Amino acid sequence: MNKTTVTIPISQSGNYIVSFPNRCVYCGQPSETTIEVTPTYTEDKSTTMTINKTTYRFPLSIPYCAKHARESSRNKSILYGVFFLCLLPTIFLTWRMEPSSFGQALIVFLFYCLVAFPIGILMQWLVRKILSYAFPSLSDTGIVIPGVIGGSDSALGISPSIRITSDTLGRVGLDSNITISFTNDEVARECASLSGGTYKVPQK
Ligand SMILES: [Zn+2]
Repeated sequence: MNKTTVTIPISQSGNYIVSFPNRCVYCGQPSETTIEVTPTYTEDKSTTMTINKTTYRFPLSIPYCAKHARESSRNKSILYGVFFLCLLPTIFLTWRMEPSSFGQALIVFLFYCLVAFPIGILMQWLVRKILSYAFPSLSDTGIVIPGVIGGSDSALGISPSIRITSDTLGRVGLDSNITISFTNDEVARECASLSGGTYKVPQK
């Protein structure tokens, strides 16, 4: 699937404007509803001694026609369901270890999560491939990636990601941006011009 990307700058004060045309981002028909999608960005200032992570949330209201709003929600439920099923064994395995304190339980649990996250992502990818025969729009729906390892929310026809850099004064860097991939090229172009972003067609 070729995707058009739109890159929208984030200002040094952390502000950004993402405007969509009043059209379904997937089919381009008039929009009837919006769905909130929240990509996240995790800033990692951890040292070898301490864990210091801050997660920033960037909510976006995505316009859809009624049909694709329903499909987006359904596809998202399928992918989230697969992901959480892959995380369930971590709870069981942590319990099996019989940790002596809550702190120890937490460390064991986080360790298992490190293993379970990539499995959860791989399984979503597999399930998406297998079920796309029954639900064609599933293959145009982004995979769920938890905030701590990248942060991408699932939605139909659109896949946002955040990049934040900091300059020498610790402010938001000038090359910070939101990049959104679209399956609908026309909607992508309109979003770029409404949001003051740049538009890039996929390379063949
Ligand atoms: Zn639609």
